[in-house]
Amino acid sequence: MSQLNGKTAVVALGGNAITQPGIEDTIANQFAHTRKSLDGIVELARAGYKLVITHGNGPQVGNAILRVELARGQAPILPLGVCVADTEGGMGYMIEQSLQNRLKKEGLERPVVTIITQIIIDPEDPQIAKPSKYIGQFYSEDEAKRFAKERGWIVKKDANRGWRRVVPSPQPLSVVASETIKALVNQGTVVISAGGGGIPVYIDDKGNLEGLDAVIDKDLASAVLGNEIQAEILIILTSVDRVAVNFGRLDEQWLNQVTVSEMEQYVKDGHFPPGSMGPKIQAALQFLKGGGKEVIITSFNNAGKALDGTAGTRIVPD
Ligand code: ADP
Ligand code: MG
Repeated sequence: MSQLNGKTAVVALGGNAITQPGIEDTIANQFAHTRKSLDGIVELARAGYKLVITHGNGPQVGNAILRVELARGQAPILPLGVCVADTEGGMGYMIEQSLQNRLKKEGLERPVVTIITQIIIDPEDPQIAKPSKYIGQFYSEDEAKRFAKERGWIVKKDANRGWRRVVPSPQPLSVVASETIKALVNQGTVVISAGGGGIPVYIDDKGNLEGLDAVIDKDLASAVLGNEIQAEILIILTSVDRVAVNFGRLDEQWLNQVTVSEMEQYVKDGHFPPGSMGPKIQAALQFLKGGGKEVIITSFNNAGKALDGTAGTRIVPD
């Protein structure tokens, strides 16, 4: 195995690591995108980082739910938690195999494993009574309201694009397998975990784990996992090279290095919308306050350069 440098990095892969807008998400295409997204991870392995990889699953879990709906009456219904677990497995397999082949080619062989990850949430989380995360297909208002009645869904209008199912997206509190993940990571194994944000579970009155129909934001899950395994660095790879203030406006300004308190001010000033940059910044702040040393937000292409400080947005403690 290649030399380790003693530091642990959590790398969160955004949606476009695996599926890209406007390109059909066949498995062949998903594999091809995955292979291309690994450059940054390979650079981190070369630099000797101990590694955890997390990833989103929006399109994949949407497809999983669609298959369940299309098979209604012919194959058993799968609850959302099982769909998340299934996509963690399938996507983990694609990332795991692609990375194993790539590390071998680069002469950086290390064990790579995927862990299906349950994440504890609070059953009293306010999101559970007021779900807000859109998932799956778009429907007409009539269809959506019919499914709400027949299937017990909660549905809402998603801007001007149509009606969709909404599910809770509670705050992740703790990763059930974090000690195991930490042990594996410390011995040099690359661990793929918290895929799709992990499977939300809560602890019931009897102290047992119980699943629920919800999803967890993958960036927040990555921060919680990073803190629990005492990672130094969280790297969030997404579709933009840097974080901006006044994003998309004429006075847009790309950020190089920002401290926690500067970032908190930008959050207060409303620069980061919910559902895209908002949770990444929240995850960054949470990770740094929980003991993390550095967060980098950048694009897949710039991951290597971001490490030596020539690309990306770096967020550091005050
Ligand atoms: P991922 O799948 O990687 O989680 P998201 O689409 O959820 O990606 O979030 C990344 C997107 O956030 C970017 O593509 C960009 O369009 C958007 N975004 C919103 N606000 C900002 C901002 N202030 N700076 C940079 N990007 C932003
Ligand atoms: Mg996202």
